[in-house]
Amino acid sequence: MDFTDTAEEAGFRSDVREWLHEHLPAGWTEHPDPRPADAKEGEELRRWWQRELYDGGWAGLSWPAEYGGRGASLVEQVIFNEESARARAPEPINTIGLHMAGPTIIAWGSDEQKRRYLMPLLSGEEIWCQGFSEPGSGSDLGSLSTRAVRDGDSYIVNGQKVWTSYGHLADFCILLARTDPEAPKHAGLTYLLADMSDPGVEVRPLVQITGDPEFNETFFTDARVPATNRLGEEGDGWKVAMTTLLHERGTMAFSLQMMSRMTLDSLVRLVRTLDRAEDPVVRERLAGFSMDVDALRVTNLRALSKLRKGAPGPEGSMAKLLWERVQQGMGEYAMELLGTAGQVPGEPAGAWQWIYLRGRGHSIEAGTTEVLKNIIAERVLGLPRSR
Ligand SMILES: Cc1cc2nc3c(=O)[nH]c(=O)nc-3n(C[C@H](O)[C@H](O)[C@H](O)COP(=O)(O)OP(=O)(O)OC[C@H]3O[C@@H](n4cnc5c(N)ncnc54)[C@H](O)[C@@H]3O)c2cc1C
Repeated sequence: MDFTDTAEEAGFRSDVREWLHEHLPAGWTEHPDPRPADAKEGEELRRWWQRELYDGGWAGLSWPAEYGGRGASLVEQVIFNEESARARAPEPINTIGLHMAGPTIIAWGSDEQKRRYLMPLLSGEEIWCQGFSEPGSGSDLGSLSTRAVRDGDSYIVNGQKVWTSYGHLADFCILLARTDPEAPKHAGLTYLLADMSDPGVEVRPLVQITGDPEFNETFFTDARVPATNRLGEEGDGWKVAMTTLLHERGTMAFSLQMMSRMTLDSLVRLVRTLDRAEDPVVRERLAGFSMDVDALRVTNLRALSKLRKGAPGPEGSMAKLLWERVQQGMGEYAMELLGTAGQVPGEPAGAWQWIYLRGRGHSIEAGTTEVLKNIIAERVLGLPRSR
């Protein structure tokens, strides 16, 4: 495979570069740690950036133009991500909307649902969260017990979800609920688009080890979801959820790669600040991380050729696994280099404390390490099933 840009791709890359330069605040790219430390300010920044992207026609780049996208090729999407990472651009706020809810609505939604939900999702006007995990169901998602009972034109939902990232900001939730408790566990599920402003929905923040209330417990008590907000048929929830999960590990991996590229860039800057750039041991570690980040890029390109032929495949699990390893590794190495200075807020530790602590969740979210290894063993390598 030839990774060099064609003349057309090189032209696109330079347009992206120019646009980013014009739209990011002056000095942004050179700043050692441009992200605000305050969670609220960070949220505002990410909302602003998503709106900028949308207004510039860069949000949902590869989505159909009729739903607010640009109909660009997936290669152009990759170029855009690479350039955004180079410029250290903020992550748009609607992570779950862009990478999970949106692609699932495109794949399964009626024309009316696509018209209603996709545009405000792209602009960041409506934020989405994911209501899959429950206190008793995580890796074994098919065992979930939140109930949705049909009542006229609506479903009445009762149950509890947990680890709902962005739940405290969200307008809508992609919700997986059990509609038929008698059916075999995967066949009894239905996929709903729940309005988070319904009086039956209560969100309680959970504070993480980083100090940020990034995710939540979400309680549904007689919450009403119109039947028109069902994605796919009743009982098809598992199939629809698979589209979401494959995108979570596949499509989202493209933006995770951006995060790793930026972390590597920050690590190189840290090494220079600490005056360790000539140390051969440090250089060897940096070279190792750099190779891993490149391997992640190539793994993503491989997934891309699959995506071009339709839905993402189980290979996305490899990208997710590699990403969590390299991202956690860089956080740990930065703390090692910083020594006791890593425990003191402010420079030179900067954002490293957050990167290090937040990294613990990387091997749990979007599929735990063990579960990903099982998927790779069984579905990519064709090894016998573990159970
Ligand atoms: C930062 C973060 C954000 C998240 N955001 C969301 C969100 O927005 N929405 C949402 O719905 N969920 C979210 N989650 C939840 C996440 O998807 C679950 O935590 C994950 O699926 C694991 O489920 P669990 O926590 O119930 O652990 P369990 O499934 O109970 O696993 C416990 C342990 O057992 C191991 N294990 C389980 N099954 C197997 C097996 N078959 N073979 C080998 N080992 C196994 C696991 O690897 C793990 O070590 C988030 C989690 C994190 C950390």
